[in-house]
Amino acid sequence: MSGKDYTKMWKDLGLNLENHAGLLDVLSKAYKDIYLSQKNRPKAMEYFDFVISEVHGLRIEEILNAKEAGRKVVGTFCVYVPEEIVLAADGVCIGLCAGAEVGSDEAGKYLPRNTCALIKAFMGFKLSGLCPYVESADLIVGETTCDGKKKAYESFNDITGKVYVMEVPHMKTTEDRKLWLSEVMRFKDKMVALSGKEITVVGFKKAVSKVNAKRKALQRLSRLRAADPAPISGLDALLVNQVSFYDDPVRFTEMTNKLCDELDQRVSNGTGAAAKGAPRILVSGSPMAIPNWKLHAIIEGSGAVAVGEESCIGERNHRDLLDENFSTVDEAMEKLASRYLGIDCACFTPNNERIDNIKALAKSLKADGIIHYSLQFCTPYMMEAYKAERAVTGVPFMRIETDYSMEDFGQLKTRIEAFIEILR
Ligand code: SF4
Ligand code: SF4
Repeated sequence: MSGKDYTKMWKDLGLNLENHAGLLDVLSKAYKDIYLSQKNRPKAMEYFDFVISEVHGLRIEEILNAKEAGRKVVGTFCVYVPEEIVLAADGVCIGLCAGAEVGSDEAGKYLPRNTCALIKAFMGFKLSGLCPYVESADLIVGETTCDGKKKAYESFNDITGKVYVMEVPHMKTTEDRKLWLSEVMRFKDKMVALSGKEITVVGFKKAVSKVNAKRKALQRLSRLRAADPAPISGLDALLVNQVSFYDDPVRFTEMTNKLCDELDQRVSNGTGAAAKGAPRILVSGSPMAIPNWKLHAIIEGSGAVAVGEESCIGERNHRDLLDENFSTVDEAMEKLASRYLGIDCACFTPNNERIDNIKALAKSLKADGIIHYSLQFCTPYMMEAYKAERAVTGVPFMRIETDYSMEDFGQLKTRIEAFIEILR
């Protein structure tokens, strides 16, 4: 952290100061061990190191200042929730993280044991008084994607009183498209009511342009990782994608483009974060919310490099831009609904686009192997892993199921090292 004392701010937000201090200690140690120990990092990663060091400090202060100025803060858990609508209503949109094993005992009072780590974590963070983002939010938007989340939001609303749920269909028929469009319109009306600000075409165009610029910067980063040697580690690229969910979008875009300028140079000079010829891994599957860095740390600690994430904290979030060519708010909503329904989450059936996307990404990033990562008890991704494995030919494929705990670290490392040996 910057050294500034934020204790009063955390206390005013109702955080459990003792638990919170413990969390920051663990986080900062993990960051030092996993991130700051890396060699050959791009200099522009310093910005992202700073953002992490201020994740519960300066960024929260900025958000609280925005609230003071009359803006509404909206927390989300899924890439189906349209950030453009929040921004068009002059809101601040924050992707709530749930990537650490905290508050499991408390979460266990609301959730069965066989619930995925991400759901356990968002309940655990709240119940342990650890998340300043949840406490700062005026609205938390859930969605009916997987069954676990859908039901957990009921309890989350009992605890926070702030949850609004969008119904995401599970197929993509004409009727589903109509349902989804009506849900998008309902969310727009909700944001207008919450903010007291109208959504105009001009305002919406500005919002779309900001979010598209962010996506373009992330796409640029993704393309640069196709070089051999990879100019940036998978750990650092994952971090940038994680930060994209809660940083100010305009500043984030500027800093990511700055990073990409440096990576362009590194590609021209042949400078890599890993050695030329290091085995290249595409990671595919369940989202890796901050600070879930476990799999990438194992892969890169074993001499390979992660070159892409076919995941919501990755390609699924930024692959498609929103068409900016509209002249009414209704037309914009139709384009927005269509863009978001193109997302290939495993909650959909059928979901063949995702298999095609895995294959295309493995090819464009020149992956030597694919590791399919499912959070334990994440049925949609666990199921789809088998289908993906059958469909992908010519690239070695490995399925793993894990959670946030470090108990299986050694066992996973042994399996992943053996897999990497096959790729050499
Ligand atoms: S995996 Fe599916 S449910 Fe989870 S964040 Fe991504 S789109 Fe949403
Ligand atoms: S990781 Fe899987 S089970 Fe967990 S919330 Fe996401 S889709 Fe649902």
